[in-house]
Amino acid sequence: MSDTDGKKPLGLGGARPGQVKQSFSHGRTKSVVVETKRKKVVVPKPSAAGGKPAGSPSLGDPSRRPAGISDAEMERRLKALQAAKAREAEEAAQRVAEEKAREEERERRRAEAEAKEREDREREEALRLKAEEDARKAREAELRAQKKEEVRKAPAKAEAPADPAAAEAAAARAATKGVVATGPRKTDRDRDERAPDRDARNAKGKGDDNARRTGKLSLSEALHGGEGGRQRSLAAMKRKQEKARQKAMGYGQSAEKMVRDVQLPETIVVSELANRMAERAADVVKALMKMGMMVTANQTIDADTAELVIEEFGHKAVRVSDADVEQVIDTVEDKPEDLQTRPPIITIMGHVDHGKTSLLDAIRKANVVSGEAGGITQHIGAYQVTTDSGAVLTFLDTPGHAAFTSMRARGAQVTDIVVLVVAADDAVMPQTIEAINHAKAAKVPMIVAINKCDKYEANPQKVRTDLLQHEVVVEAMSGDVQDVEVSAKTGKGLDELLEAIALQAEVLELKANPNRAAQGAVIEAKLDVGRGPVATVLVQHGTLKQGDIFVVGEKWGKVRALINDRGERVTEAGPSVPVEVLGLNGTPEAGDVLNVVETEAQAREIADYREQTTKDKRAAAGAATTLEQLMAKAKADLNVAELPVVVKADVQGSTEAIVQALEKVGNEEVRVRVIHSGVGAITESDVGLAEASGAPVIGFNVRANAPARAAANQKGVEIRYYSIIYDLVDDIKAAASGLLKNEVREHFIGYAQIKEVFKVSGVGKVAGCIVTEGVARRSAGVRLLRDDVVIHEGTLKTLKRFKDEVKDVISGQECGMAFENYEDIRPGDVIEIFEREEVERTL
Ligand code: GDP
Repeated sequence: MSDTDGKKPLGLGGARPGQVKQSFSHGRTKSVVVETKRKKVVVPKPSAAGGKPAGSPSLGDPSRRPAGISDAEMERRLKALQAAKAREAEEAAQRVAEEKAREEERERRRAEAEAKEREDREREEALRLKAEEDARKAREAELRAQKKEEVRKAPAKAEAPADPAAAEAAAARAATKGVVATGPRKTDRDRDERAPDRDARNAKGKGDDNARRTGKLSLSEALHGGEGGRQRSLAAMKRKQEKARQKAMGYGQSAEKMVRDVQLPETIVVSELANRMAERAADVVKALMKMGMMVTANQTIDADTAELVIEEFGHKAVRVSDADVEQVIDTVEDKPEDLQTRPPIITIMGHVDHGKTSLLDAIRKANVVSGEAGGITQHIGAYQVTTDSGAVLTFLDTPGHAAFTSMRARGAQVTDIVVLVVAADDAVMPQTIEAINHAKAAKVPMIVAINKCDKYEANPQKVRTDLLQHEVVVEAMSGDVQDVEVSAKTGKGLDELLEAIALQAEVLELKANPNRAAQGAVIEAKLDVGRGPVATVLVQHGTLKQGDIFVVGEKWGKVRALINDRGERVTEAGPSVPVEVLGLNGTPEAGDVLNVVETEAQAREIADYREQTTKDKRAAAGAATTLEQLMAKAKADLNVAELPVVVKADVQGSTEAIVQALEKVGNEEVRVRVIHSGVGAITESDVGLAEASGAPVIGFNVRANAPARAAANQKGVEIRYYSIIYDLVDDIKAAASGLLKNEVREHFIGYAQIKEVFKVSGVGKVAGCIVTEGVARRSAGVRLLRDDVVIHEGTLKTLKRFKDEVKDVISGQECGMAFENYEDIRPGDVIEIFEREEVERTL
């Protein structure tokens, strides 16, 4: 109803298209809807609708009156309606066209705007890029300036003061990444931040700005070209500097690679070796480690090892036998005209009990003491006799092979003639043969003294024929070896023997220069209670005088007094004369060589040097001391014909048994000497003692404690462990006799400490352990140690880690261990884990 009410005023208001519609349809409601539509169409264009259908109100008015309308009227109205419709359609089409045009216009404008926008954007972008470029160049320029300042400052500080503040400022700018707001030197960030503003301005069409910018850009470009060149040269300079630096380093490297002649004495400290090669000590230590030698820079190595190292580093080893200090010793060759005949020096050798001592005594008594009033026979190690024909002979009265060979081994071959004593009642014996070999090895001529010829059962001929077998052909057998039948007891043939010796000496043409600095060999030395250190020296060259300063082995001194073999004080001793020398600073050793030098300082220096060398040698040798090596050494140097050992065992009974067994080992040449024995763990002091004596330590059912193990490793002392006396004695015997079987060597691969002991059903007692050293291995052998004493040896039943059976447990980890067939385990016990390896032994 409200609709109707609403329409009435509409209809009353004037003729409208909605009213026309109403007259066609037969319900009011419809017309209302139509009217609404019309309204809608009209609303958008009130002006157009109001102006154009001027006739419509007239049409509308009659349609409001359904009744009383004629056909003509209807037709007229219809036409009007059609016309109106057509107009309407026309209008609509026009509107559409207009709309379209507007749309097109909008589109065009939008496109235009977009294009413009794009254009602007592009321009902006270009400008931005340009701005950035600008900024970059400015930055580079600034950096260059800064660099230049630095460079200027660095090489010549005198130039820098010109603009120190600027340099500082530059440095500050560099440090703060450029927060300087003003000035042409803008940093990159600064410029980047400012660029968008400028771009925006440019986008608004600030042509001037653009032009300005463009101009600036081209200028920058120009600058770029110029500065780029400078930049390149800067980089080039940098490269050049780097090259130079590398070159310098390169020169250093090539200098290191220079092949050097490395002076190599018999022993050398690692750091000194490095120094002589101009290599780093650490590198040398590394090289040594690679060779299997664990040494520190302060340790001494022998020349052979050092030579390998030198080769490794590509240098050349030059062996020097004697140190420079030794060169003050007079070693000039004598001119033939300075040489004078000297007495021969004779050593008497032969089998034990064949009468060496008796013969020496007989000669001495017969030729020295007799007829000399007050002559007191004094044993100084050698004596001189004068034959009936006037020849002087010097006898060494320390008979036997040991003295002879030890002297030789020490480089003092003093003997000119060997008198081989063979008892006529006995014949050639083992030591006779040895003596023959020694003499032959030393290329010393022999004279055979067939002793005990006074005896009824003496058979000199047998001796001669026996000697044939050993390639000693005596004159009686048409050979060239003199043979004399003697009797020490009766004195028979002694003169003949002396004459034979004199003859042999003549043949040898023994000569020496008495007029030079003396050189001699120590044949005996002792520490005399009243006189201090005393050495009997057999002068070989020159003449030793009272007051002479000398060095002898590792000792030195000044001759305080000289005493001859008759106990008389003499002022000098010439070639082949034996004298006792007083005035030494210590006791030298038999075989040491005495050299007279000019000053005390020289003597002291040489002695000190030798002492150090010996120490180093000992240390170097000690670094590789094994039972085999010791025995090999003992055999090579017959002076050391005994094997010292240190024995530690679990109980007194076994200690005694071992010592007794070991003392039985050996023969006349080689024997075992137990320098120390005891009960309990092997301690550091045992190792120290062993080291000093060059001995191995033998542990019987005992172990070395940790400090002792460390000391042994460091000092190179061998510790051998045994649990069967027979094995121990057998090993020592084998080493002594040189019959070395393949050795079963044990390697300790780990140690574990028992923390707790658990009882596990089905397994028994299980030790809760921590592996303290190395590795615990299921397959390895194990020993249970309590206070470093072996309680049990066997194998493992189980090796567990967190309930899992494992093969290995490494140091620091906990594990469970149980012994096969052994249960007496306690917390605190140590488990030793070892593996066995068979090693072929070599000497
Ligand atoms: P060495 O071991 O070679 O020094 O021999 P010794 O000089 O000690 O002599 C050993 C033994 O043989 C001693 O009992 C001497 O008395 C004896 N003896 C040494 N020479 C002779 C000799 O010419 N005739 C006899 N009948 N006995 C001698």
